[in-house]
Amino acid sequence: MQTEFVHNLSYVNGDLQQFISYLNTHYISQNRGAVISTVNPEIGYATTKDKNYHHIISSSDFVLPDGIGVVLLSRLTHNPLQSRIAGYDVFISLLELANKLSKKVYLFGAKKEVLNGVIAKIEKEFPNIEIVGYNDGYSADKQFVAKQIHKSKPDMVFVALGYPHQEKFIHNYRHLFPEAISIGLGGSFDVFSGNVKRAPSWMIRLNLEWLYRLITNPWRLKRMFSIPKYALAVLNGKKNGKTFYPKPEKDHTKQI
Ligand code: UDP
Repeated sequence: MQTEFVHNLSYVNGDLQQFISYLNTHYISQNRGAVISTVNPEIGYATTKDKNYHHIISSSDFVLPDGIGVVLLSRLTHNPLQSRIAGYDVFISLLELANKLSKKVYLFGAKKEVLNGVIAKIEKEFPNIEIVGYNDGYSADKQFVAKQIHKSKPDMVFVALGYPHQEKFIHNYRHLFPEAISIGLGGSFDVFSGNVKRAPSWMIRLNLEWLYRLITNPWRLKRMFSIPKYALAVLNGKKNGKTFYPKPEKDHTKQI
């Protein structure tokens, strides 16, 4: 799958369909596990501030540009990404695939009533999926949940704890479920269960989903301050020719 560096992360450069088809051919159909991180500018900015979090995100198998901000910034730095790949859309596509292939899934995160809504909807709309386990995101100890996932051997692990907790959870425990596709999904369970409305499709088409989320959740304004900060970090990095990584050592053997 083609990728492109934007500042300090290498993003998948394609659209949703290309990504799902690649994932299916090279991972799901071969029972190979993969970790998927969905990165918006807030998360992108967090990776510039916290080396450990950067390490966690960059060691994922796939980093998806889940925010029009990341796509626009990629154009400013002349490394254009083709399109946004929204975590929620990946979730739906993975459910469709899991249903088609009769796969096993584990659900971790969100409030109890939200999770119950997710389970009920999956059972109704994706009857071939086997839900081998679930846990809400507030009551259980993370290590306990990781062990439950290990025991239930799911093909896909959906973690909706919000960032950075979901990425840290997957990173810390992926060795217990190496053959699963694991993905952090933020607030996707809230949307899927109908507890939170996603932006109308015309807003999604016009890349205004962020504005809808801001209008419906004004408390997000503070978090959105990280968007211009991330833009500055990307532009400064470009101007100064700085990269997040040390320059590779010169290969002296070639000169001999
Ligand atoms: N959440 C959770 N446990 C926690 C904190 C949050 O399960 O300790 C859930 C929360 O109920 C919501 C999701 O994580 O379903 C976070 O959604 P949000 O849209 O805020 O995601 P973010 O933008 O932070 O990725």
